[in-house]
Amino acid sequence: MQQKKEKLQASGPQKTDRGNQGTKKVRTQDKRSFQITDKKAFRTSDNKTSRISDNKASQTSDNKTSRISDNKTSRISDNKTSRTSDKRNSQTQQNRIRNKSTGFKEKSSKGKHAFNKSVGSEKNLDSVSYRKNNSQRFEYEDDQIFWCEKCNLPLIGEECGRCGSRGKVLKLSQPADVRFCSPYEREVLDRQLYSAFGCNPLGKRLILLNKIPGEDKTDEVLVDGFIFGILRFELSKMDYSFEPSLKGAKILLKHTQGRTARLKKTNRHLNGKSISAESIETFDSNIKAGDFVLVTAGSLTGYGVSLFDGAEFSGLKDQPGSETRSEPEFSKESEKVLRIRKVDSSEASLHPETPDLTACIEANKKHLQVLGKNAINTIRGIISRKEYKNLPVYVSFSGGKDSLVALDLAQASLKQRELKAFFLNTGIEFPETVEFVRNFCREKEISLTEANAGSAFREQVGKFGPPAKDFRWCCKVCKLASAGDFETEKRASSQKGVAGVAYLTIDGKRKHESFSRARIAASETNPFVPAQLNIFPIRDWKAIEVWLYIHWRQLSYSPLYDLGFERVGCWLCPSALAAEYERVKDLHPEMYAKWNAFLLEWAKSRGLSEKFIEHGFWRWKELPPKMLKLAEELGISVLAREKTEDFEIEVVSGISPCRAGGYSIEAAVKGIREQEAAGFVNVLGNTVYAEDLGMLLVKTATGTVKFFSNGNLLASSETKEKAILLFKEAAKQFTRLSRCTGCGICVKACPVGAASLEGKTPHVSETCIRCGKCTESCVVTRYFDKLVPDLNQKLKL
Ligand code: SF4
Ligand code: SF4
Ligand SMILES: [Zn+2]
Repeated sequence: MQQKKEKLQASGPQKTDRGNQGTKKVRTQDKRSFQITDKKAFRTSDNKTSRISDNKASQTSDNKTSRISDNKTSRISDNKTSRTSDKRNSQTQQNRIRNKSTGFKEKSSKGKHAFNKSVGSEKNLDSVSYRKNNSQRFEYEDDQIFWCEKCNLPLIGEECGRCGSRGKVLKLSQPADVRFCSPYEREVLDRQLYSAFGCNPLGKRLILLNKIPGEDKTDEVLVDGFIFGILRFELSKMDYSFEPSLKGAKILLKHTQGRTARLKKTNRHLNGKSISAESIETFDSNIKAGDFVLVTAGSLTGYGVSLFDGAEFSGLKDQPGSETRSEPEFSKESEKVLRIRKVDSSEASLHPETPDLTACIEANKKHLQVLGKNAINTIRGIISRKEYKNLPVYVSFSGGKDSLVALDLAQASLKQRELKAFFLNTGIEFPETVEFVRNFCREKEISLTEANAGSAFREQVGKFGPPAKDFRWCCKVCKLASAGDFETEKRASSQKGVAGVAYLTIDGKRKHESFSRARIAASETNPFVPAQLNIFPIRDWKAIEVWLYIHWRQLSYSPLYDLGFERVGCWLCPSALAAEYERVKDLHPEMYAKWNAFLLEWAKSRGLSEKFIEHGFWRWKELPPKMLKLAEELGISVLAREKTEDFEIEVVSGISPCRAGGYSIEAAVKGIREQEAAGFVNVLGNTVYAEDLGMLLVKTATGTVKFFSNGNLLASSETKEKAILLFKEAAKQFTRLSRCTGCGICVKACPVGAASLEGKTPHVSETCIRCGKCTESCVVTRYFDKLVPDLNQKLKL
C-alpha cells in the first residue's frame, strides 16, 4: 500500500455522503453528527438517543428473539424447499444430491418473458419478492453499497472518489455485512473453481464476500458488482462447494475445462425442469451426481445440477429408442439426468478494468473521512458530557478488526485525556490474538490492561460440558467474571459519576455482524457490569467499511483474518463456524487435538458417536431442525444418554394434596449436605436450621421448603401453581449451590452485601432482602433449564 497515512480529526460539521444511501436511519444518525459542534444541540440529541435506544434495547430484547428465529426459519426453509424438490426428482441419487442446496432464491419462471429477464436484475427481483413474503422479520435499512461501473469498484458512498461518477446501487442480502475476500478465502474459491470447472476466470480481481444465512460458513461471492456465485461450507462433507449464479455460469462457460452438458436445441421451457439422457448431446464424463453443471442449449446458457454420474451417461444414451426423439423430454423419475436451475439467452462477461485495493481506497477516501469524523464526534460528544468528563476512558480491545478501528478512533478522539486499552484474555484465545494485542499496544504506545480468566474454562468444562450456542456458560465464567474483577479495581480507584457509572468503554460492536446485534444504541450500560458505560462509535459500519478504514489508515491487524477466520474470538467458541474449526486443526493441531479428545470422551460417556463430534453437533445443547435433519441424513444418532452427575434432583412424587391442606412436592437431592444449604437458602426465605434434627426449614412468601439430612426436599404451598413455582425456585437454588463456578458475579450484584463466596460455595446471610439480583446474574441459574432439562417431565407437567 503506497498511500500516505491519513490523519483523522473531528472538526466542524461534516457533510456526509451516506445520506445518499437513501435510508431514513442513516440520515437521522448523520443529522446527529452535524449537531456535534453545537454543544447544546448535541447534548439534547444524545440524551434523546440514549434514552430511546435504552428503551429500545430493553423493549426489543424479547422481540428480537422471536424475530430472529422467524427470520432464520424462513431462510432455512428456502433451502429446505429446494432440497426437497431435488429429492422428489431423484430417488436413486438422493443422498448425494440433497447436499447441494440452491442458495439462490430463483423466481419461478412464469411465461416466456422469464427467459429474457436481465441477469443484473435477478438479485433485485429476488430480494423484493423475499421482503414481501417475510414482513415479520427484521430488516436492515442500510442494506446496500454502491458500485462505480466505470472504475469497477465498490463504493461506500454514492460518488466515486476516482472518476466522480455516481455509483449504481448494489442491494445486499441481509445482514449486509459485506467484506473483502481474504487471501485464504481466495485460495478456497480458487480450489473450488478449479476442481468443479477446471478454471478460475477471476484472477486477481477484487472479490467481495457477503455473509448470508446457511448451515455453516456461507457467502455470496461478489465480483464486478454482481453475484458470481455462492461459496458454502457443507457440514455433510465438511468441505466447501461453489454454486455459480446464472451470470457466473455464463462466464465460467467461456473458460471451463469440464462439467458441461450440451442439450439438443429446443423451444421448450427449461428452467426448473429435469432432462432425460436422450435430450442431451454431450455430458462430460467427469460429472458426478450432485455436481453443478454448466449448461448450453442452442442460444441458451446457464447451469443445473447433475442427477447422474457422467461416466454412466453413454450407457444411458445407447438405450433403444433414445435416438428417435429430438426435443428434450421432461422425463419420468427414472430417466432424468440433469435438473436445470436456470438458463437464458443473455450475455455475460467480466469487466475489463481490474483495479486493486489501493484504487478502492482512493475511490472511497472521502467517505472514509466522513465516517471517521462522525465516529470521533460520537465518542467526543459522550465522553465530554459533564457527568462523564472526569471518568477514565478505556477501549475494549479484543484483537479483532472492529475493536482495532474503535481503538484507532478513540486515540484520535482523545487528545487531552488518557486512553487505556482493556484486553480480556479469556484463557482460550488464539496465541496470535494475545500476541497481536500486546504488540499493537506496545507499538502504538497505548497502555494496556489485561484481565486474565486463566484456567477458568478448563476448571469448569468438566462441570458444565462443552459450551454450546444455546448454553454459553463460558461467556459468564471467562468474560464477565474477569470484567467484574476489573470493574472492582476501577471502582476503587475512580470517582463514580452519575447512575453509578465509574468508567467509559469504547467498544467496536456493530449491528451488521449478526441479526442478534441488529439494534445497538450509541451508548449503554452492561447489566452485569453496571459501573461501565459502553460507547459504540462504529455500530452502523459494515465490514467493508471497517476493512477500508484499516487499509486506509494502514493499521496492522490480526493475522488470523488472512488465514481463514472471519471473526477473531475464543478458538473453541461454539459460535465459531465449523469451517473455522477446520482451520484450527490446520494451524494449531495440538490445541485442536486436546479439545477434540475431550469432546470425544464427553460424547462417548453419553453414548454419542465420533461423527457427532466430527460434524460439529456438539455446538448445540438442543439441536435446531436443520441439524436434526442433517443428523438423519448422515445417520448420526443425537440421543444422548444423560450421565449421572454428582448432583442429582429426583422428584419422588408429583404434586400431591397435603393432609394439612395445600399441595406439596417431594424430591430426593444427591450431592448437597444440609449444613452447606443452611448457609445459602436465606436467598429463598427466612431460614431455621435444626442441626440436631437434621432439618432445614425455609419460610418463603409463598410457602415452606424443608430439606432433611437424608437429602429429602419438600416444597409446600396453598395452591398447586404456587407449590410448583416454589419447588422450581428451590431446585434452581440447590443447583446453583452445587454447580457454583466461584465466579463471584453474585457477590458484586448484591446491593446489601448479603452474598459472599467461600471458594466455590456461595453464601447468603440473613440480611438478604430477596431482591433476586444474585440469581439473575448467576451463570448456573441462567442455564438452569439446560442443566436440569427434564424437570417439567419429572413434575409431570
Ligand atoms: S442479591 Fe438480593 S437476593 Fe441475592 S443475596 Fe443479595 S439481597 Fe439476597
Ligand atoms: S453462585 Fe455466584 S459465584 Fe457461584 S456461579 Fe453463581 S454467580 Fe458465580
Ligand atoms: Zn469511478
